Amino acid sequence: MPMQLRRPGSRAGGPGMTGPTEPSRYDLPLAPDPDHDLSVDEVRVLWSFIHGDIMNSQFRARLRAHHGPCERHAWAYAVTEIELWEQGAGRRGGHQPFDVAVLYTDLLEEMSTRLRRQRRRRRDRILRRDGTCLICDDVRGRQPTRFVVTHAGFDPAKLAAEANRMRYTIAWLRETAPCWSPLVCPDCTDQPTTTGAAIRCRPHLVLHHADLTDHVLHSELDALDLWTARLRALLGSMTAGGRPSTPEEDAAWVAAVAWFNGWRFPLTVVPPIPNDRSRDTGSRSTTRPSASPDQ
Ligand SMILES: [Zn+2]
Ligand SMILES: [Zn+2]
Repeated sequence: MPMQLRRPGSRAGGPGMTGPTEPSRYDLPLAPDPDHDLSVDEVRVLWSFIHGDIMNSQFRARLRAHHGPCERHAWAYAVTEIELWEQGAGRRGGHQPFDVAVLYTDLLEEMSTRLRRQRRRRRDRILRRDGTCLICDDVRGRQPTRFVVTHAGFDPAKLAAEANRMRYTIAWLRETAPCWSPLVCPDCTDQPTTTGAAIRCRPHLVLHHADLTDHVLHSELDALDLWTARLRALLGSMTAGGRPSTPEEDAAWVAAVAWFNGWRFPLTVVPPIPNDRSRDTGSRSTTRPSASPDQ
């Protein structure tokens, strides 16, 4: 039986509900359904972001402080790149998370370095987000980044419709599920793995920061360092002449984004593979997304 998504709470409301106590679409987790998928504005901003704004040093500093975009936009960033970027190097030749791997390699290295330096009682400060999500600031109108996309013939509505099919993303998640299933944070699911490879995600570490002993920290850092190395190998596989990636390396971007943001999106899209099952690609879960800590 596949692991089930833990539902620590639920958020009422949906798109178009924008009152002071009601969430907008941007407060909802990303999922492949019309109530939770990407707005045209989100795809416009993310597509521009992928086209170079991430290299802006000011944005890069904010991304490090905030540990990347918020949960919704971290996965949205991956979806937008994977769905819309058609041409690339390596075995797939496109529809692959290259920029995502660049960003999360940087974030993993930064996190690992800072956690190693910090004393135990201050570790939770490093794990918490500082600042705001760049994408939220733009689409919510708080601080427009004035991203401009210069591609001729660009039609944001068509790109959003294309991105929201999520067909390449779902294929990635299905294909890599045998490798990421054993890594799912035990607090993100009601049926945690028993392989011993799983570690708590960053949001759940923040919630349970008193448990972050030196022993736990070492396990976390070992996993982060391993995923960093695999992400680097995955990046290499997406460059001209790069060595083909292994299945574990293909799954590294899922583990990295999930560690920073929680496992809700992959668990919503694809049921994880149980420990005692062979490589069964499964089918789309009917589990609805629910709230999880976004610290
Ligand atoms: Zn956001
Ligand atoms: Zn978790």
